[in-house]
Amino acid sequence: MTMPDDTKRYRSEVRPVWCPGCGHYGVLHSFYAAIAELNLAPERIAIASGIGCSGRFPAFVNAYGFHGVHGRALPLATGIKLGNPELTVIAVSGDGDAYSIGAGHFPHAARRNINITYIVMDNRIYGLTKGQPSPTSPTGLKLKASPYGSTDTPLKPVTAALAHNASFVARGFSAWTKELTEILKRAILHPGFAFVEVLSPCITFHNTYQHFKEVLHPIPKDHDETDITKAMALALVDPTLYHGVFYANPRPCYEDTIAELRAEAQKSQTGLPDLLQRFQA
Ligand code: SF4
Ligand code: MG
Repeated sequence: MTMPDDTKRYRSEVRPVWCPGCGHYGVLHSFYAAIAELNLAPERIAIASGIGCSGRFPAFVNAYGFHGVHGRALPLATGIKLGNPELTVIAVSGDGDAYSIGAGHFPHAARRNINITYIVMDNRIYGLTKGQPSPTSPTGLKLKASPYGSTDTPLKPVTAALAHNASFVARGFSAWTKELTEILKRAILHPGFAFVEVLSPCITFHNTYQHFKEVLHPIPKDHDETDITKAMALALVDPTLYHGVFYANPRPCYEDTIAELRAEAQKSQTGLPDLLQRFQA
């Protein structure tokens, strides 16, 4: 995929090693375009990932990056943001990483409203380990590791993000990079936890390009993004799937609340020596 020149400063020296045609190239391309259009300084960006084909993402971006262990993109990103709130912090996962081993972190990052962007590159299988059913695989999906079809009912990540009180929830498609760039820009600028589900086909083990082109429809233009009930109603629609921004409703961020608490604690600590002296007397 060719990249516009203005994204040059964000491309690292490590060339992506995903299979030719992998949806993740579209996500990377859109991400480069989004941070270029926002004119973010590379040294002000930090990206954390877990394990899977998606886990390689930070290596391909000229920014700070941390390729963590299974399912731990969100705790890493949370720590980075609390350590340096000035950074633009991105967490990147795949569907296996995010909704299986990392699933316990998703509700808490969302409800705390930590100011990070969480991009989940969902190909609905485990790609790195050669195509086993993942938490979002459709029921009945036949793969080499599930020759009689997956027996499980898939998760609905967008409805889950809304239920977990994420303050920004969107869905994009890796093949539609212009729209995805706009979604990522909004997610990055959103002051709070921004969840972006990106349908990103694994061309090698579960090629869903055609399927998604057929089932995806834009969110109606008159949708009220601050209405969570309407957002949930749109998110529940299946097998037709809506794409775009379901919900965007800022509220105080975790790091701001923590900073206020820290200030309060520091104030009370100034009185601590007097208090101790009184107890010791
Ligand atoms: Fe992409 Fe699938 Fe190849 Fe992994 S295995 S790089 S998800 S096409
Ligand atoms: Mg996957």
